[in-house]
Amino acid sequence: MTKPILTVNNLQVSFRTQKSDVQAVRGVGFSLHKGETLAIVGESGSGKSVTAKSIMRLLPKHNTKISQGEIFYEDKNLLNLSVREMQAIRGSEISMVFQDPMTSLNPTMKIGKQIIEGLQKHHHVSKREAKQRGIDMLRLVGIPNPVERIDSYPHQFSGGMRQRVVIAMALACNPKILIADEPTTALDVTIQAQILDLMSDLQQKTGTAIILITHDLGVVANMADRVAVMYAGEIVEMGTVDEVFYNAQHPYTLGLIKSMPKLHVGRSEALIPIPGSPPDLAHLGTGCPFAARCPYTMKVCHYFNPIPTSKSDSHKVSCWLQDQRVPEDLALEAVGGNHS
Ligand code: SF4
Repeated sequence: MTKPILTVNNLQVSFRTQKSDVQAVRGVGFSLHKGETLAIVGESGSGKSVTAKSIMRLLPKHNTKISQGEIFYEDKNLLNLSVREMQAIRGSEISMVFQDPMTSLNPTMKIGKQIIEGLQKHHHVSKREAKQRGIDMLRLVGIPNPVERIDSYPHQFSGGMRQRVVIAMALACNPKILIADEPTTALDVTIQAQILDLMSDLQQKTGTAIILITHDLGVVANMADRVAVMYAGEIVEMGTVDEVFYNAQHPYTLGLIKSMPKLHVGRSEALIPIPGSPPDLAHLGTGCPFAARCPYTMKVCHYFNPIPTSKSDSHKVSCWLQDQRVPEDLALEAVGGNHS
């Protein structure tokens, strides 16, 4: 296999609060290859957005601590770059799209000017060339009448069209990686599908690798090549889309799949939500952080956090159920898990 363009190793990120440290990301590691889409899935607070913002170095400095880890983009560890070196990469080689397009857009500036500014900052192109590139990008993302619309302000677009504009801005400099953090969550279902189709389509044309961050496993089925499932700051299962959808091994992944609406079976089938809520990351105890919600909790789960085991070259899971090394006396069902 070719060398990854992005490799994250053992990333540990915490936030200082007045009372304690919140362990937001705990030992996350993955790689991303040219042209592939990796989805990072998990409930809110699972650490997926913090992981993405660590890659972009967008976390607030005053209360964030990256205590361990490496983030290699090509051969550069992004965590060691100066502010200026990182600015040169952000937007030009690695771009990010957020849930709310207004996070990226300046409401007082015409969208054309915003696209042109980005291009001129990273590439030495004339204003005319940049404007033409802006028009081409708007056309590429499906904005009608791009020659006129380049002179519109953000409020003159609908929510879905604004997200298209943001994608145009993010891709204008031909980045090698696009990080999309819940890019369709604020949009209605039809527009959601259109934006995801657009991203897939653009990826085919440009070869950009995508990290798609979402709380909705359903969103990734048609879009991702691989899926990383995050829970309580850790990746608990990672595999190809087929491995995660059709051969899920972690009880949390199985819970996410059961809580997904299944379009093909009609509306009558009830969704089964995962009972309970994620643990407080400021006060994590020993053992598996999913133990209080898991239907299969064993004694060992309360004492030790599981170690990742490989089900195949691409499929890894962190759950004692999958680990042959658990001694018999610790493999007994424990009292205290969710055995409903
Ligand atoms: Fe459930 Fe134990 Fe597996 Fe955690 S390690 S998911 S508690 S069976």
